[in-house]
Amino acid sequence: MEKSIIKLKNVSKFYYSKGVIASGFSRINLEFKIGEFVAITGESGSGKSTLLNVISGLDSYEEGEMYINGEETSHYTEEDFEDYRRKYIGNIFQSFNLVNSYTVYQNIELVMLLNGAKKKEVKDKVLELIRKVDLYKFRNTKVSKLSGGQKQRVAIARALAKDTPIIIADEPTGNLDSRSSKSILKLLSEIAKDKLVIVVTHNYEDVEEYVTRKIKMHDGKVLEDKKIRDYKEVSNIKENNYKDISFLSKIRLGIRNTFNVLPKFLLVLLVYLFVVTSLMSEYASFREEEHLESISGYNGYFLDNDEDRIVLKKNDGTSFSEEDYNDILKIDNVDYVMKNDLLLDTMINISDNDYYLSTRVNSIDNFRGKIDIGKMPEEESEVVIAGSKNDYYIGYMANEILDRELYLTDMYTGEMDKSNPIKIVGISYTDSKGYYSDDVIYVNNSIMESLTYEVNQVYSKIKVLFQNKYYDSSNYDNNFRIIPKRNIDEGNAYISSDLNYLCKNYNCIGTDISIDAENIYYKESINLKVNKTYDKKNIESLTGIKDYESISGVIFISSTDYNKLYSKGNFQSSVFVKNVHNIDNTIKLLNDRGYSTLKITDALVKLDALAAIRIFKTIVTVILAVVLFFISYFVIKVILKSRNIYFTTIRMLGSSKKVSRQILIIELINDANIAYLLFGVFLLLNYFGVINISFAHTIIEYMKGNDYVLLYLVLVMMSYLISNRFARKIFKDSAMKVLKEEV
Ligand code: ADP
Ligand code: MG
Repeated sequence: MEKSIIKLKNVSKFYYSKGVIASGFSRINLEFKIGEFVAITGESGSGKSTLLNVISGLDSYEEGEMYINGEETSHYTEEDFEDYRRKYIGNIFQSFNLVNSYTVYQNIELVMLLNGAKKKEVKDKVLELIRKVDLYKFRNTKVSKLSGGQKQRVAIARALAKDTPIIIADEPTGNLDSRSSKSILKLLSEIAKDKLVIVVTHNYEDVEEYVTRKIKMHDGKVLEDKKIRDYKEVSNIKENNYKDISFLSKIRLGIRNTFNVLPKFLLVLLVYLFVVTSLMSEYASFREEEHLESISGYNGYFLDNDEDRIVLKKNDGTSFSEEDYNDILKIDNVDYVMKNDLLLDTMINISDNDYYLSTRVNSIDNFRGKIDIGKMPEEESEVVIAGSKNDYYIGYMANEILDRELYLTDMYTGEMDKSNPIKIVGISYTDSKGYYSDDVIYVNNSIMESLTYEVNQVYSKIKVLFQNKYYDSSNYDNNFRIIPKRNIDEGNAYISSDLNYLCKNYNCIGTDISIDAENIYYKESINLKVNKTYDKKNIESLTGIKDYESISGVIFISSTDYNKLYSKGNFQSSVFVKNVHNIDNTIKLLNDRGYSTLKITDALVKLDALAAIRIFKTIVTVILAVVLFFISYFVIKVILKSRNIYFTTIRMLGSSKKVSRQILIIELINDANIAYLLFGVFLLLNYFGVINISFAHTIIEYMKGNDYVLLYLVLVMMSYLISNRFARKIFKDSAMKVLKEEV
């Protein structure tokens, strides 16, 4: 006599629920051998299912001892039972427990893959089993489309695919009509030839002709255990030699699961798109903020704090030559050079008797905007002005100032230079915020040049030598100021009669004087003879200026002498770059060419409050990521709830918690990849101007390569955490409990 593969000795099973103990079955003694085909009958609630679950290792028992192949199991851990189930047990359920979204083939293949077989190896065996249960025609049909009888055939083929010595079927025909029932039971009896098959059924008559033994249960006890006919004992027990699922199979299943239920796929994709979009925009706006902060700040010296500006000096202290400028312009990222850098940081005033505009100035050659009102200049005197639409003159009075004759006014005296009128013929609106220093007037190069001399004077100190003594603003009430006049001959000077006390006999006419102009770049001196003195009465006839009060301290000289003092060339220029993100590289190239540089944003005094804003922003981004994680976790959890049955099924088929989790991770990462890819396409479409969504442009502008990698890793991390939590949840309850809840 062969030993029993399963032996129960005084085994009892109790259920504890809400403090009440219920008995599933008590003090059962049974033995089963390979080759038997056992039918278990009994009224509902008599303990049949409980008994099968204990035998299957799906449920524990509390009393007695169950032996498997002669081995005690009372000390078994959950893992031991899992191992036992994979080696010995194939289950068939009343409710089939198939994966409805898989085809017949895929359902049978699934169990083989989960038990370590390779996809290529299993094909023949899967098809053979499908033929055996007579479903070859339906091999590529989704299980959801099959009839109940067909489904149970798939379940049987699947149980056989696992190749275990024991098949346990709990009311496999409970949901079937009597014709299908009969054929299923016949199929089971055929299997039983070299296996132990235990089947619970209410229709004993249908199996009577096949069974070798009948067990009748009543109230948790065995009422009858009767041999019906002989069977051929099988001596060698063949365990299922399972391996762990291969890496490739996990990938394959994960990817299959991504797409196999379309609505689920779309929903999960939507969640991921939402996460990617919010994370990216938040992150990009954080980057933008960081950038804006780096270019903002306070500076008392520069008016033009454009982030793309670099201030240049030559290392040897000489002035820039045209050759230098051409060389600089050859650098790829250089947009243009402002030769006289000082003008960028100077406000010039233009007015007539009614209007008074205070603006910055630049060369028309450097104008990069587009004309919104009027036209580009054609004549020498014509200029363009750029600024905010909110600016009073440019915005509201645009039509008033257009084509009106205006005059540059002297920076010191405020006198209008009527000999050189200018005319605003074009207005260009910029997106500047409308601060007072944001307007820029673009003038032609001859106006540029005269302004250059003037601004050079502003940045220079003047000393005047009278009778061997130097005078400057420290020992004279007024600043000296030099104004060129065309009608004065070279070498002559007109000075105020107020200065007569500095000369012999209180009369300066005929006195030799020297004027020194000195700034950080050069010192220049000219010798002159005082030719005339002016006072309240003769000022207008000498110079055309009416207001004497405003000009005492002014020395009028010839244009030639004036040019000697102030047209020494440019010692400081500014470069403007095309792409501010590459500015550091451009600075390096300029340094290599012998220029010392100052990135304008480095000259800004930062306010401490900005550091606080940055920390705050970081916290907000982190909080957002966490919030998004939980939102998406709960949404995905709800979506995945419909998939509990899937994971319970693969658990029944031998998938461990780890494997289930990994398959889910692969599925979610796959979803994440697709969402990421779609978002990438969306960004590219914006980049190439096919569509034009503003937040996409913020992302494109401010996110760097590393940022994309980082956010991708955040997404993968999220998928990992979600699958982890989800796997923990499905494995918290016993497979049996999950199954009962689902069915
Ligand atoms: P059968 O399959 O023969 O209809 P079961 O094995 O399902 O009977 O049930 C046997 C007994 O155990 C019944 O009294 C039933 O109420 C009880 N029982 C079954 N499952 C549970 C459970 N999860 N919790 C509490 N009692 C249970
Ligand atoms: Mg039952």
